[in-house]
Amino acid sequence: MSHTKKFMLPDSQMPTHWYNIVADMPNKPLPPLHPGTKQPARKEDFLPIFCPSIIDQEMSTERWIEIPGEVQDAYKIWRCTPLVRAFELEKALGTPAKIYYKNEGVSPAGSHKPNSAIPQAYYNKKDGVQRLTTETGAGQWGSALAMACKLFNIDLKVFMVKVSYHQKPYRKLMMNTWGAEVNASPSLLTESGRAILAKDPDAPGNLGIAISEAVEMAVKTPGTKYSLGSVLNHVLLHQTIIGLEAIEQFKLAGDFPDMVFGCFGGGSNFSGSAFPFVHLNLTEGKKVRAIACEPASCPKLTRGEFQYDFGDSQGLTPLLPMYTLGHDFQPASIHAGGLRYHGAGSVVSQLLKDNLIEAMSIPQIETFEAGMLFAATEGIIPAPESTHAIAGTIREAMKCKEEGKEKTLFFNLSGQGMIDLYAYEQYMEGNLVNYNLPDSVIRESLDKLEKIIR
Ligand SMILES: *Cc1c(COP(=O)(O)O)cnc(C)c1O
Repeated sequence: MSHTKKFMLPDSQMPTHWYNIVADMPNKPLPPLHPGTKQPARKEDFLPIFCPSIIDQEMSTERWIEIPGEVQDAYKIWRCTPLVRAFELEKALGTPAKIYYKNEGVSPAGSHKPNSAIPQAYYNKKDGVQRLTTETGAGQWGSALAMACKLFNIDLKVFMVKVSYHQKPYRKLMMNTWGAEVNASPSLLTESGRAILAKDPDAPGNLGIAISEAVEMAVKTPGTKYSLGSVLNHVLLHQTIIGLEAIEQFKLAGDFPDMVFGCFGGGSNFSGSAFPFVHLNLTEGKKVRAIACEPASCPKLTRGEFQYDFGDSQGLTPLLPMYTLGHDFQPASIHAGGLRYHGAGSVVSQLLKDNLIEAMSIPQIETFEAGMLFAATEGIIPAPESTHAIAGTIREAMKCKEEGKEKTLFFNLSGQGMIDLYAYEQYMEGNLVNYNLPDSVIRESLDKLEKIIR
């Protein structure tokens, strides 16, 4: 007998609202602070950076927020994404656990990122913005936003982290194909970039520096706003489409997860997958464990400190309460470029502090072993970021095997890896290493932070 492998929703049953977990949090996140006055930031403080509709969403405490019709229509280009039972992976592991994954790699840009890029382009267009700036690490956010800006007819300037700009030329070409201008960061186009290059002309860049450049350009250029692909509340909100679809798809499968895994950069795909399940924990007494899987070389959730910190490396953004390694922490040049970020979102951080979600860290080589096994069994080559979620799931599946437990495990496959094959080549040639991160390096970076939370 053959089993049903893939569960899909018809267009008519797609979610019509996003879920805002802030409405249900027992302890609300602490407010963002103005970087100068250290007072809670007001709507006006965000206006030089974001359009009004986005700021309203960022500050909203409403539980359900309607997805505009134009956004629902654009989502239908590739949504819903399949919920897939990983029978062959289960067999290879010899685990009694049932493993399901949601395949966000089927989007036009190859990752979950268009889920927020589409509404951000839509709201900026509606508010009269002509041009967006943004940063991108491995290029997934930049390519997602380039596609969205093209669909909604807005200009886009992208600052791409320099190591990735050289490692991943095809993502740059995707952005160019969708009409965006792409600059390697640090660049000479901004004061922030010039300051970094003056100190180190070969600086490889990181997401924090690229954010500084994009924010600076948005603030200084008329008709221009900035767009961020992770971390902030409105981005997490848009990504809940993943978990909301998954809940309906699990009904079709006649199953329900005990644990949800997502890889963790700034928190958007993890939160989008997990929060709709945490909602059921908070309101219906369900007990789904939500596990964020971060790289051992950039371990803000498992080894960082809960403190106010900047979102960028130069200190231009409002101060956010977050688990952080310090805003000028320089993560090792691992191939999961999208996970090389010093901090986490304020909502995720508060939930972690309150033990409503969990975190684990995974070394680089284990993640590629997981990615190779997934490609060999389920056929899909995962993005290096997503392999962290696969590795986390495999750890639990092996624990189920040892303990003889039949749990249902669910992970988000945040993206496909066809444009990251260079990283797989490095793995196959034996060139990848695990990075040891001594406590003293983290301490040194955190010691530089002003301790606003005592
Ligand atoms: C950007 C990215 C991530 C990390 O970002 P989050 O906001 O933490 O989700 C993970 N996986 C893929 C494929 C990405 O493109």
